[in-house]
Amino acid sequence: MTDPGCLFCKIITGDIPSARIDEDEHTFTFMDINPATRGHALVVPKRHYRDLLEVPPEELARVAASAQRVAARVTTKLGADGVNLLNSCGQAAWQTVFHFHMHVIPRYADDPIRDSLRLPWVPAAGDLDDIRATAEVLNT
Ligand code: 5GP
Ligand code: ZN
Repeated sequence: MTDPGCLFCKIITGDIPSARIDEDEHTFTFMDINPATRGHALVVPKRHYRDLLEVPPEELARVAASAQRVAARVTTKLGADGVNLLNSCGQAAWQTVFHFHMHVIPRYADDPIRDSLRLPWVPAAGDLDDIRATAEVLNT
């Protein structure tokens, strides 16, 4: 299950070069070409799924396990102080490559050279009635 027009499918097959750092039967991990911080990597399933809503749960679990392995590695080998896992699902959520992937973003405390990331929202108390009403809608 590959998509001949998909950039990440071509990276997995080696048709487009990448800096691979981890691979198992089901997943492939390589460095992001536009790193947000030092060591920023992308974990993908070898099969093509468009996004978080399409990837089957067992494949998602495999990607999560690989992301955990890579998170441990950037901690020990690069000295990261923390790690963000990020998935963007849909254009509105900043997804630009439509082969499901998990970003593994090492974080470095007080180090603007390796890490200049900032929280993309300003935490502020929400309206409690609105929060409860939304929870009602979402509650199954
Ligand atoms: P998204 O924006 O979909 O969450 O993430 C896509 C990521 O793929 C971006 O962080 C972008 O830098 C990375 N990317 C795009 N093209 C290439 C490429 O050709 N090679 C590699 N290694 N990463 C890429
Ligand atoms: Zn693909």
